[in-house]
Amino acid sequence: MATTQVLEQEQELTPERLIEDYKTLKRARQHSSMASANWVTVLAHECEAYAVFNRTVPPNERRPLKESLGMLFAEGNDQARAIKRDLLDAGYEVEGAEDQMAWPRYQITGRQDLKIRRPGTKRGVNAEIKSCSPFTFDSINSVADLRHHKWSFVRKWDRQVCLYMVLQSVSRYWLILKNKSTGAIKIIEYTLGDEELQVAEALIGKAERVNRLVQIAQMPGAEQKLSDPDVCGECEFLHVCLPEMEFGPGAKVLTEESASELAQKTERLLELRPLAKEYEALDDELKEEVKALCADGSEQVVYGDYVATVKRIQVNGSPEKVVPAKPGYVQQRVTFIRAAAP
Ligand code: SF4
Repeated sequence: MATTQVLEQEQELTPERLIEDYKTLKRARQHSSMASANWVTVLAHECEAYAVFNRTVPPNERRPLKESLGMLFAEGNDQARAIKRDLLDAGYEVEGAEDQMAWPRYQITGRQDLKIRRPGTKRGVNAEIKSCSPFTFDSINSVADLRHHKWSFVRKWDRQVCLYMVLQSVSRYWLILKNKSTGAIKIIEYTLGDEELQVAEALIGKAERVNRLVQIAQMPGAEQKLSDPDVCGECEFLHVCLPEMEFGPGAKVLTEESASELAQKTERLLELRPLAKEYEALDDELKEEVKALCADGSEQVVYGDYVATVKRIQVNGSPEKVVPAKPGYVQQRVTFIRAAAP
């Protein structure tokens, strides 16, 4: 009897158990293997050295991906699978997305993209699916938005698509974007033009340089390293690459002991930074919407549990003799409060 009770206790399902099993599944879906060729996604990375290390550093010698980052990648793949399922349910013919394709001449491999066809229409379209936050989703409405986006991971999507178009000799391509919050989708249509060719040629040139280094077993030089603290800090090859970061001549290097608290706080700060950027973007967007709603002179907007207040402050212009003179203007400050208890 006692043995049965112990067994039952051991087998009881707990939230922790389920969450751990879920994470294990997601981890298992992240492939980490030694690349024998240049993956399109890796060539699209801004750092050339990264592409060399991806082919020369064994997985067990890499820094582990942050768990949150790994989950994010797995989520992206799941969203792509979900769209494919939805399109099939909507009666479309959808091929690909599971197989690998290869261009041996440049030692490039990539995942087969989707080929979408609507029964009764003349031709199908090659497509790539990406899912993103509502703010990223709203910020992308054209190829130019992707190409010049402030986030490097978005610019990477553009490079990927350009390379796929050239390697597959297709002149038309869709990037299907999914808003992870609302489920809405939008399509950015690509047509192969001079700019797309240039982007793809740059990546093919990068593949050829990487191939040469791998062949002669030579590590990348400093000029091939991105050496950007923002990107390198997350890089799985940082400890192998040891990129030269710019420390000014007046830099003070602390000992490990005296730096530990500072390092912990800095780590937390960097964790919060993406949220801060998201906060700023949303803050700007909301305030502009409220100002537009109050363009008729209203001072408050009441909606749901919230009240937004617009305060107009007269800002005096600078005197004429200050060059250039600045005219006065009315500054509008918007504040939000929750009117009801949460
Ligand atoms: S650490 Fe920086 S420079 Fe080195 S491979 Fe990674 S991204 Fe490139």
